[in-house]
Amino acid sequence: MSNGFVFSRRSEESLRGVNPKLQAVVRRALQLSKVDFIVIEGLRTAERQRQLLAERKTKVSHSKHQDGLAVDLFPVGGTWKAAEFFPLRDAMFAAASEQGVTLRWGGDFNGDGHTVGNDNWDCPHFELR
Ligand SMILES: [Zn+2]
Repeated sequence: MSNGFVFSRRSEESLRGVNPKLQAVVRRALQLSKVDFIVIEGLRTAERQRQLLAERKTKVSHSKHQDGLAVDLFPVGGTWKAAEFFPLRDAMFAAASEQGVTLRWGGDFNGDGHTVGNDNWDCPHFELR
């Protein structure tokens, strides 16, 4: 059974240079996902990280994105509500579990299972632990 979701050219370009284990999780997650999603960012240059820091769009000077160890995903048609990311989280963690990979999700950085508090400011973000 397949949901028929296929990555766009943009998503494929965003996956370029991303750690192969993480790429495999993202590709499997698309097969498992109940909602279609795009990969908005993968590998990031140091220059872009500095720019994001200057714009206060990130909190760290060195991101796992720069090492190809993080991806940002966004549900097609999403409006930035946290709940819209739950199906992505479920698909990503299911795929990671299948492949023996441990993930951290930006919607719950401390992994306590709650999406409230100060650790949920980056819902699109998934990184290898
Ligand atoms: Zn990110």
